[in-house]
Amino acid sequence: DAPLVEAQNLRVWLPTGRRDGIQAVRNVSLRVAAGERVGIVGESGSGKSVTGRALSGLLPTNPRVRVEGSIRFRDGEEMVGASAKDWNDVRSRRVGMIFQDPLTFLNPVMRIGRQVAESIDPRRVDLPVRDEVLRVLETVGLTDVETLVDRYPHELSGGMRQRVLIAIAIAKRPDLLIADEPTTALDATVQRRVLATLDDAVSRLGTSLVLISHDLAVVGSMTDRISVMYSGRIVESGTTNEVLTAPKHPYTQALLRSVRSLTDPDTELWSIPPSLRREIDEHVALEAKEDEYEA
Ligand code: ATP
Ligand code: MG
Repeated sequence: DAPLVEAQNLRVWLPTGRRDGIQAVRNVSLRVAAGERVGIVGESGSGKSVTGRALSGLLPTNPRVRVEGSIRFRDGEEMVGASAKDWNDVRSRRVGMIFQDPLTFLNPVMRIGRQVAESIDPRRVDLPVRDEVLRVLETVGLTDVETLVDRYPHELSGGMRQRVLIAIAIAKRPDLLIADEPTTALDATVQRRVLATLDDAVSRLGTSLVLISHDLAVVGSMTDRISVMYSGRIVESGTTNEVLTAPKHPYTQALLRSVRSLTDPDTELWSIPPSLRREIDEHVALEAKEDEYEA
């Protein structure tokens, strides 16, 4: 069965002060089947967001950003090297995105209703667009939607804005949703409710989901499979159950131990002792060499 989207040997370089820039993504391969939920976890700077942006064609528009490898959507053309127009096309039909910070994504001077309406394709819905806007806003747990459509983003709470973002993403009925730390900016109670909404919306629509988060508990509860990233690579992939109960890679093992040892919620989630980190780095370096031999 053809996957909905498949990335093969994806490599991304981003410009920095250094001449060649830094390689943020190293030979990442990822497949997402129709209706499947895949989590990407890993510590800060491991390349999760750059991977998510590459999959949605939303890397910074800078001629020095370099992408190699392959990204294909089912029945689609190769998207690595595709034009901005082709990516726009793919996004408008197939991929919805939910990012961490709704204010950078929402238009501050456009009413909520219009922003949702803009992502609705009238040919794909039975209701008039205005009714569909109201329906979608209700789907994500917002109330009093008739008033809400006339409001501006700054008049809403953080949790409401994040729900609006989910509404915008699902309004176009995408095949795939990419959610990058969708609730990190919210407090714990609101986080849980917004995640439950996302979970529910994805189930009802049968949409595939790529959920990016450093929060293993969140990813563990919402996905079928998990890929663990470390310094730009996927070091382990498996079913969510396998990865969480029988991790194979020393980094995943360390990660789970560091999470389990958490008692104080303010402890750094990814506190891996330096000696263990050296061991992991050696292990990863060896694996990388083996990959190069195979390639
Ligand atoms: P976090 O959990 O903090 O969100 P992440 O896993 O999402 O981390 P990325 O944002 O994907 O990490 O970053 C991967 C690497 O790419 C990091 O070294 C980061 O500094 C670098 N990077 C990210 N965005 C840019 C950019 N626009 N320009 C240059 N370097 C970048
Ligand atoms: Mg990130």
